[in-house]
Amino acid sequence: MSAFMRTHLVDGGPERKLSSLIADAADPSYEVDVVVVGSGAGAMLAACRAYDNGQSVLIIEKTHLYGGTSAVSGGGLWIPNDDHIGGDGGSDSPEEALAYLKAATKGEVGEGKLKAFIRFGPEMLRYAEARTHVQYRANPYYADYYQHLPGAKMGYRALDAEPFDGKRLGRDILKMRETSPTMLIFGRVTMSTSEAVTMLSRAPGWRKCAWRVLRNYALDLPWRFVSRRDRRLNMGSALVGALRLSLMERNVPLWLNTPMKSLIVEDDQVVGITVEMRGRDLPVRARRGVILATGGFESNQQMREQYLPKPTSAEWTGAPRCNTGDGINAGVNAGAALGNMQHAWWTPTVHVPGEEKPRGLFSERALPGCVVVNRLGKRFANEAQDYLDFVLAMYEDHANSGANLPAWMVFDARFRKKYNAGPLVAGSILPDRFHPRHWLGKVYFRGETLEALAWQIGVNPEGLKRSVDRLNEFAKTGIDLEFNKGGNAYDTFYGDHSVKPNPCLAALEEGPFYAIRLDAGDIGTKGGLVTDEFSRVLRADGSPIRGLYATGNTSGAGATLGPAMTFGYIAADHIAGVYDAQRDSVCGDRR
Ligand SMILES: Cc1cc2nc3c(=O)[nH]c(=O)nc-3n(C[C@H](O)[C@H](O)[C@H](O)COP(=O)(O)OP(=O)(O)OC[C@H]3O[C@@H](n4cnc5c(N)ncnc54)[C@H](O)[C@@H]3O)c2cc1C
Repeated sequence: MSAFMRTHLVDGGPERKLSSLIADAADPSYEVDVVVVGSGAGAMLAACRAYDNGQSVLIIEKTHLYGGTSAVSGGGLWIPNDDHIGGDGGSDSPEEALAYLKAATKGEVGEGKLKAFIRFGPEMLRYAEARTHVQYRANPYYADYYQHLPGAKMGYRALDAEPFDGKRLGRDILKMRETSPTMLIFGRVTMSTSEAVTMLSRAPGWRKCAWRVLRNYALDLPWRFVSRRDRRLNMGSALVGALRLSLMERNVPLWLNTPMKSLIVEDDQVVGITVEMRGRDLPVRARRGVILATGGFESNQQMREQYLPKPTSAEWTGAPRCNTGDGINAGVNAGAALGNMQHAWWTPTVHVPGEEKPRGLFSERALPGCVVVNRLGKRFANEAQDYLDFVLAMYEDHANSGANLPAWMVFDARFRKKYNAGPLVAGSILPDRFHPRHWLGKVYFRGETLEALAWQIGVNPEGLKRSVDRLNEFAKTGIDLEFNKGGNAYDTFYGDHSVKPNPCLAALEEGPFYAIRLDAGDIGTKGGLVTDEFSRVLRADGSPIRGLYATGNTSGAGATLGPAMTFGYIAADHIAGVYDAQRDSVCGDRR
């Protein structure tokens, strides 16, 4: 196999000869109906849909791996009023969904786009489950993040990916970006969302559950000689694996190691892209449309400093290093407007030496027996709240006190023994001595007393002692009078339900005490190209740039997987000319 074949192409499927693809790729006049730029879930779903609409499609991916952040993610979809909800015993309605979304987005996203998401999210999922290998299940317990808002639900709108058998991808699985270590047991073994929650919170049956997933990994013996990667794909890799197989079956080519450099614009219309291939710039023409899905700008330090609150660092992002705002910049050069650039999917992250990116701390803060403080030793927020608002609280506290960024998560020996904390596996399974030695003093800190710990991490000892004493009092009654930790269904989802009266509150009283540094990280940025409810990229005057579409974090409404897939689906349909008029009347206001 030539170097060209190995680096530039992933075969679109068994029937298509690689030689013909190479000839295609080297041909400067390579032309398809739809070019999809990026290979995350929104991109892949859009490509499937475009193909099913009868279009010829090509996917371009900058790196040597496909899947982007979508593949390393938790793979959870948030789709209100989808078909699973009623079937599984929940209830929802477009009206409740709209009330919730309007309140949550505070006018930053036009009603037309919200309505399009509510209407076509369920349709997209129905299509994905019927026509691709994607399979999801409603999570009855994962509550909406903002429980106080109108239309909020205590469960069901969030969907978890069903495990996907990676054997079906053959060796192609090795070209998928690997699951984040945050989502792996011992850095190797995958788990589904419900298995993760069972194990992390030590819910009844967690030992059996752990045994089952570890045994499954061990039994895939022949594969162990090829790779340590787990072929039982879960979470984001299950989603991306399922979409990849669906694309392979459709013979849709995916070119790896092929960054888009710019858009080709003729007569005010986008008619293709220029890609870099083996050091040469090659035009790829798109007869009907280009869909940009190159993620956000989280790994572009210069753009972070220009747009995000400061201080900010590309070192703090928990997303892979591939997303540097390329699609956003290409769109701007073609005349597009930008929106919501100050927002990110904030998540506190912890740096682990030797790992490509820091790990997100999504859930541990909710567990009982920990507290998060600033340099004054003061609590500043409800530790159990969602990760996005938690980092916003870090910034707000920093603006007021000058003593945050980083913050410190402090816990006691009992917590350490029972629960995972960032990269630290629960001490009952892996005591300190089994973790890398050099982590002590870098990834985590340990002191026999709270005071000794405070000195090590540069936190005011009296302040820390006061915060812990107060929290210990709250733990007795189960009511956090300061920040109401554990006061709603979202908080308690990740709590330990064997702890009473509040699954998120317990006293910190048993030494040694531990601390982990939390940076104001993210799992991707939200802002980008302004798009309408058809996913068309808009100029500042509101007019669409013909031939140009965007989805996922490239589009400025901010979108995680559910919206990324939905607006990818809508883009493919709009390119194919499906029901434009009907959508106009359904969605009303366009932006
Ligand atoms: C640990 C973790 C857990 C998460 N869990 C969830 C979850 O459960 N639910 C949820 O909704 N969200 C979750 N997220 C967030 C979610 O994964 C991202 O918001 C989403 O994947 C972004 O999708 P995207 O298509 O915009 O970008 P990506 O999936 O990152 O895809 C962008 C792709 O474009 C490629 N690219 C970039 N530039 C170019 C170029 N010039 N030419 C060609 N290709 C290019 C990149 O290499 C990349 O492969 C999580 C994120 C992380 C890190």
